[in-house]
Amino acid sequence: MTRSSSVGSDKEVAGRPPLTMVDFAGMSVEVLSGVGPAKAKTLAAVEVESVLDLLTYYPRRYIDRTNQAAISDLEDGVEAMVMAQVDSVFSKKLRGSRVMVTVGVSDPTGRLRLVFFNQPWRDRQLSKGQEVVVFGKLDHYRGQRQMTNPIVDLVGDETGRIVPVYPQSGKAGLQTREMRRWVDEALRRSEQRGIGDPVPEGLRTHHSLIGRHEAIEGIHRPETMDAHYTARNRLVFDELLRLQLKLIMRKRAVERSAVGIGHDIGGELVDRFTSSLGFPLTGAQRRVIGEVVADMARPVPMHRLLQGDVGAGKTVVAVSAMLTAVQGGHQGALMAPTEVLATQHYLGVRALLDGLIVPASNSLLPERPVRVALLTNQTAGAERTQINASLASGEIDIVIGTHALIQEGVDFSSLGVVVVDEQHRFGVEQRAALRAKGSQAASPDVLVMTATPIPRTAAMTVYGDLDVSTLDEMPPGRTPIATRWARTGPEEAEVWEQVRAEVGQGRQAYVVCPLIDESDSIGARSVTETYERLQGEELVGLRVGLLHGRLTPAEKESVMALFRSGAIDVLVATTVIEVGVDVPNATIMVIVDADRFGIAQLHQLRGRVGRGNHESTCCLLAADAVGLAAERLRALVETTDGFELAEADLELRGEGTILGERQKGRSDLQLASLRRDKDWVVWAREAAGEMLDEDPELHRHAELRAEVELFLVDDDADYLMKS
Ligand code: ADP
Ligand code: MG
Repeated sequence: MTRSSSVGSDKEVAGRPPLTMVDFAGMSVEVLSGVGPAKAKTLAAVEVESVLDLLTYYPRRYIDRTNQAAISDLEDGVEAMVMAQVDSVFSKKLRGSRVMVTVGVSDPTGRLRLVFFNQPWRDRQLSKGQEVVVFGKLDHYRGQRQMTNPIVDLVGDETGRIVPVYPQSGKAGLQTREMRRWVDEALRRSEQRGIGDPVPEGLRTHHSLIGRHEAIEGIHRPETMDAHYTARNRLVFDELLRLQLKLIMRKRAVERSAVGIGHDIGGELVDRFTSSLGFPLTGAQRRVIGEVVADMARPVPMHRLLQGDVGAGKTVVAVSAMLTAVQGGHQGALMAPTEVLATQHYLGVRALLDGLIVPASNSLLPERPVRVALLTNQTAGAERTQINASLASGEIDIVIGTHALIQEGVDFSSLGVVVVDEQHRFGVEQRAALRAKGSQAASPDVLVMTATPIPRTAAMTVYGDLDVSTLDEMPPGRTPIATRWARTGPEEAEVWEQVRAEVGQGRQAYVVCPLIDESDSIGARSVTETYERLQGEELVGLRVGLLHGRLTPAEKESVMALFRSGAIDVLVATTVIEVGVDVPNATIMVIVDADRFGIAQLHQLRGRVGRGNHESTCCLLAADAVGLAAERLRALVETTDGFELAEADLELRGEGTILGERQKGRSDLQLASLRRDKDWVVWAREAAGEMLDEDPELHRHAELRAEVELFLVDDDADYLMKS
């Protein structure tokens, strides 16, 4: 970066176009007076290297000095903010390696002591003579007025009513005053050329958005809190618009370039299948099958996400997709994340397809049954060779399996559709590998199924480049699952009594224990201990089985088979049963240490019961759940609707967990929040779609396009797809 490219360097400004984000990205912060090599290094520590980085390094919060109190007015136990001067700083080692920093401050009305425990850096941060803003609650220690571990901001001689506080500025040794001065300078030097606004005016007016220059100013130095909100709205919209433009462009580019299979959907195989089921399809199933089949008929590869709560009937949709391929002479593959699940799907799908015949094009017989095979790492020797040969020759119509499906040596005659179950366990690479099993000429269609629904606006952000189908209706006649939270010893005793009672009625039970760490032996031990204890005490006399990740696949399968057949009454398991296990006779689930699980996982687990005609119960054991853990359990007790729970989860955990921290950081969503800004997500998506309809490559919006590329490198979209 050369210094001569500085912000609007006074001469030859006239006639030059307004500054763009790309221009700012090309200017080092060192062009600003007051940023020398040392300050540049400090800024680099918080990833601020260019002027663009500086302008998008947004305040974490604002101090509204109109709410300020005087030290003499502070009341015991009430949160308040005071503006004061540092009089003394004193650091002291306590026992162990603990440090206590005591800071004396005062304002014209009185004195106050601030005490910090385990924040040794306060000693360096604060020094005599500094102006600070302190937030905290007044307490007393030996008659002295003090605040313990208050929030302290260095404001220097800030004069504005609203003072921005920048993230990490205290620890990194950056003062708000400096940050403000640099931002001010950058904005001042941009004034002549102005800052360009790439968002079309019509769109801005439609959403009452202020101009970009004003927004950047307003986020860094708002006159009022209202001014801050309007600035924030504008910048949030920009972030979301860029993201949606990226996702939609990417989706449309794939559609334009990739060659898929235009499946023949004229046949009656899917209809014959759905009418052979012992039940009518739900409206949602009919709608979603329609969406999938219509997609498959198009000559571009399908890339669709199917979300539906546990038990919503996704399997029927998956089988319909595979049969759509089969009736045109192609094959279908269903990939599941675990051995147990693959086996379960295999048994289930085979039962669903029992008796279904297809027209046989290349055989002497006019028709033949649909052929289904199971391929996992357990499939070995002659059987495996046989299956591989039949897949390559096209004799197998539908193959169900695990990762084994994407290994070397598995070749298809003509893979038409791939269904991936429980997408969160597969990475993009694995899906890509399975996709690559299609013929050279055409990519197979891909349907990704997930039982972890996410709220609509979050889906638009995370899966913005997939089409999304949603099964939002449960099959009728489901017996609702009653959920109770057992907090005390006597309540827990009742739970075990209820388990015995259910088993007495011929029903079965699950007992789920948390796994402390996927691979660890402690997890296996804790589930084993619970198993032994229950067998010897609470559930003595019942037939209890044990299932955990450390068993071999063959052992797991044999335990599952015993449970399915009813030879085991109670299955004590880790979360290996989380997904897909289907035993309708199981009517009660006990989740041990339920406070250790997240909402989504508890909901998944609970979905293992309530699959038959009998009333079912889920019992959450958690004696001392407080705070967020308690909120989670309460949410579970209150509703069984997966979408409602997904909203609750988003509320409780924040979007970081949906996007992933890294993704959030890298996806340019600095200000936008999937919780707070739901409407903006929808509006940005609509706006992006409409802009791209008229100008697919954004040729007429070159500045916006350049910005999209600047803020969202290709990797980012990959992260978004991966989650
Ligand atoms: P998911 O995979 O979405 O959790 P499944 O496909 O395993 O759900 O279906 C759960 C159960 O509901 C299965 O026993 C299935 O046979 C049954 N089922 C599916 N669709 C219907 C329907 N329309 N009416 C009644 N039962 C259905
Ligand atoms: Mg399923």
